[in-house]
Parts: sequence; structure tokens; C-alpha cells
Amino acid sequence: MSEASRPALAYIGLGSNLETPREQLRRALRSLDALPLTQCVARSSLYASAPIGPQDQPDFVNAVAAIHTRLSPLALLDQLQALEQRHRRVRRRHWGPRTLDLDLLWYAGLAQYHPRLTLPHPQMPYRRFVLEPLAEIAPDFTLADRPLASYLPALADQPLHRLDD
Ligand code: ATP
Ligand code: CA
Ligand code: CA
Repeated sequence: MSEASRPALAYIGLGSNLETPREQLRRALRSLDALPLTQCVARSSLYASAPIGPQDQPDFVNAVAAIHTRLSPLALLDQLQALEQRHRRVRRRHWGPRTLDLDLLWYAGLAQYHPRLTLPHPQMPYRRFVLEPLAEIAPDFTLADRPLASYLPALADQPLHRLDD
């Protein structure tokens, strides 16, 4: 296989707090594997977390998936947003409740700022519900040259617990 056709490793953060969130995430994980030019290579357990931002909404269910993809970062984002739409996501308010949220956390180590796609996802260092599931599937992952475990003590006050699958 030539160098050019080697797929990129990327991590996707999944979240849902409406309409049977666990089922939304299970469906979404299957759909990630079915995206064009893409395979899901690992997935974390499901986790329950308290909402960030507005508190008058249900708790979230979260997970992180690792994929191999030959889609470009923006083509992948298009696919993730189309998948959110297939889960009938409606945008009402910032950080409000949603059937499915798919964040592109990290794509092959790329660092870029763009309003449509900032990489790595800028909120990663502040979110236990992202870093703990990521550490489960990528224990050696480093963010800004720091191991994931070094971010977690500062986030210990964010409620998070692993769910039985
Ligand atoms: P947050 O980004 O803080 O988790 P959110 O997931 O609620 O908040 P959305 O409403 O889902 O935010 O997305 C707003 C916009 O963010 C999207 O239209 C998308 O273009 C942009 N965006 C920028 N960087 C990324 C990224 N790494 N992954 C997903 N979307 C991104
Ligand atoms: Ca998000
Ligand atoms: Ca999002």
C-alpha cells in the first residue's frame, strides 16, 4: 500500500441527552463505521456526565470512538454533521439538549484554527467526559505533549461515571 493511501487516525467525541441517549450512541457508533472511506477501530464504554452550560436539561451519555478514515478533515466534519441531522438534531440554544453531538476531537495530529473546524477540539482539556473515555481507548495519547492523566486531577469535580453497556 502506498504512503498516500494510508488512512488517518481520528477521535470522535459522542454525546446525547435526549430520546434514549444510550440507543442514540449505539446507533451512531454503528453509523461511524459505515461512513464512506471510514472504519471504527475502537470505542470507549458509555459514560454518564452532568451537562455543561445550562443545568435545566437531562444528564448526558458520552463516548469516544477511534476511526481510520481517508476522508479529509472537512469532509469528515460534513459527514458527522449529516449524521447528527439523521438523528434529528435540532439546534435551539448554545450547549442545550441534543439527540446527538459529534465533535471531531483530533485528526492525525493536525493543529488548525478555523470557525468551522478547530483542531484539536479546543474544549478537550477542560472536559472530563472527553478525556476519560479517550484515555480508556488511547492510554498513551498526549495532548499538547502532556499525558491525559495529567489533565484529570483539575477536572475531578465534574461528575462522570461509567455505565454498564
Ligand atoms: P462545543 O464545540 O463547545 O462542544 P457544541 O458541540 O454544542 O459545543 P455545535 O453547535 O455542535 O457546538 O457546533 C458548532 C460549530 O462548531 C459547528 O458548526 C462546527 O462547524 C464548529 N466546529 C469547530 N471545530 C469543531 C470540531 N473540532 N468538531 C466539531 N465541530 C467543530
Ligand atoms: Ca460538543
Ligand atoms: Ca458539536
